[in-house]
Amino acid sequence: MRKKIVIGNWKMNMLTERARGFAKQVAPRLASTAVVCAPFTVLSVLSEAAKGTILKVGAQDMYFQESGAYTGEISAGMLLDVGAGYVIVGHSERRLYFGETDADVRHKVETALKNGLIPIVCCGEPLDTEAPKDFVKAQLIAALEGVSGEQLSNIVVAYEPVWAIGTGKTATPEVAQDMIGSLRFVLKERFGDAAEEVLFLYGGSVNEKNIAEFLVCDDIDGALVGGASLDPDSFVQMVNAAAEVCGQK
Ligand code: PEP
Repeated sequence: MRKKIVIGNWKMNMLTERARGFAKQVAPRLASTAVVCAPFTVLSVLSEAAKGTILKVGAQDMYFQESGAYTGEISAGMLLDVGAGYVIVGHSERRLYFGETDADVRHKVETALKNGLIPIVCCGEPLDTEAPKDFVKAQLIAALEGVSGEQLSNIVVAYEPVWAIGTGKTATPEVAQDMIGSLRFVLKERFGDAAEEVLFLYGGSVNEKNIAEFLVCDDIDGALVGGASLDPDSFVQMVNAAAEVCGQK
């Protein structure tokens, strides 16, 4: 059975002392495994502070080349070196502000898997997309083009409608479940039963007050949380709500 998981995305927030304090404060209170995707600059300190606990560390992006003359970029090996086990790829903010394409996302997924990092593959439609399901399905198919059925259990997919990110507006749980159910079906058609292993998260203005509504949906295996993941108490409450839904508490 798939377990529910909460993954935080700190975006461009958090300095060293606050990141260390967050891990020290949060890790002992967690009822199930959770992940924080932090800026590159605090990954080391966060990994050190969370060592031996069920708080895991992820990055928010990486480059798909293994090494070389790519000034300013960070490789999968560098992420592993500072204790990251997860990496967000294809976040809508990267697609929007940094021109990340479906092909970039596909290469990053392949490189992450090859290096033993779990990619958190983001997909989601902008406001006023005419056929949202077709749009998001196409993004997901493109991102997973080079992936095999055996690799699926090492992939997390986050459905994040762009209009819900950081806006205080969420999709309704019914709409999120319907979309994610369709995405899982797309993977089933291609990979068969292995699609049941993939963790699908909902993201977009999730917080400690609304998370339970999403977590009770059959196909929603957790949440990718931006703003609300910065507050230690909110983060603990969200993670423990997920544990409760799974009967882990
Ligand atoms: C995100 O950054 O992936 C996100 C969902 O942000 P927020 O929770 O702030 O909407």
